[in-house]
Amino acid sequence: MTMTQVTRKAAVTPRANDKRALEAAAATRMLVAERILDYSGHVSIRIPGQDAFVIQIGSNSRAEVAPESMLVVDYEGKVLEGDGQPPSEIPIHIEILKARPDVQAVLHSHMELAIAFTMMGGVTLQPMRARASRWKSGIPTDPDPSHIKTTEQGRALAKTLGPHHAVLMRAHGLTLVAESAQALFIDAVHFKENATAQMQALQAGAKPLPLTDAEIEQIEKMEMRDWHIQKLWNYYVRKGLKDGVLPQEWGEPLIPSRETLTRDRTY
Ligand SMILES: [Zn+2]
Repeated sequence: MTMTQVTRKAAVTPRANDKRALEAAAATRMLVAERILDYSGHVSIRIPGQDAFVIQIGSNSRAEVAPESMLVVDYEGKVLEGDGQPPSEIPIHIEILKARPDVQAVLHSHMELAIAFTMMGGVTLQPMRARASRWKSGIPTDPDPSHIKTTEQGRALAKTLGPHHAVLMRAHGLTLVAESAQALFIDAVHFKENATAQMQALQAGAKPLPLTDAEIEQIEKMEMRDWHIQKLWNYYVRKGLKDGVLPQEWGEPLIPSRETLTRDRTY
């Protein structure tokens, strides 16, 4: 083996074995399967201890993204590892990860239902379904309808997001934040379910009845977020493997262990 071959191999294989790159790729493909991502939108995962994160190449198909092609990008938008350009809306990820040390994963999506709720006068997207208690603090709307391509726009979006877990973007999409890639994916599924529920109430001509504070308190008493995330991640990874959305070799590192799927509480 020549030195050139050694160098090339060393530059490519670490991300292939990197759990974060794998989880970002798997979450992206599954979000496409759930019609939450399509030809655009992206997932980033923070690399702890570094001012950097994993994100896909902007022009790569979301349906075929793989850990080998993931980039490692720093908070200046500079590519530290990988061969390609990050998405043009990378300031979304940079500025939110900088502003929110509690956030480990960010999703930006052009989900149609989310956009619809930025275009209806007198209507605010609210927690309707039980799982939407996640957004009890509110779902603000950022007023900038253009794509977020500058640091200033990214900072303004992070400011609108504030301490919340979701921000709608006027006539454009939404951004979700969570504590892990798994949590981010499950939140996205529930976010869409909740927006669908409110839209169905509106389409029925009814006045939507969002969850009350007392109802949210009751829901949260019974909440087992970590276990719930693992349960649904297990379902969606297995579904993705069965449907050919995920390559078979991704199964072993992605499927939760039996211990992880065991509840520590019963009612
Ligand atoms: Zn966008």
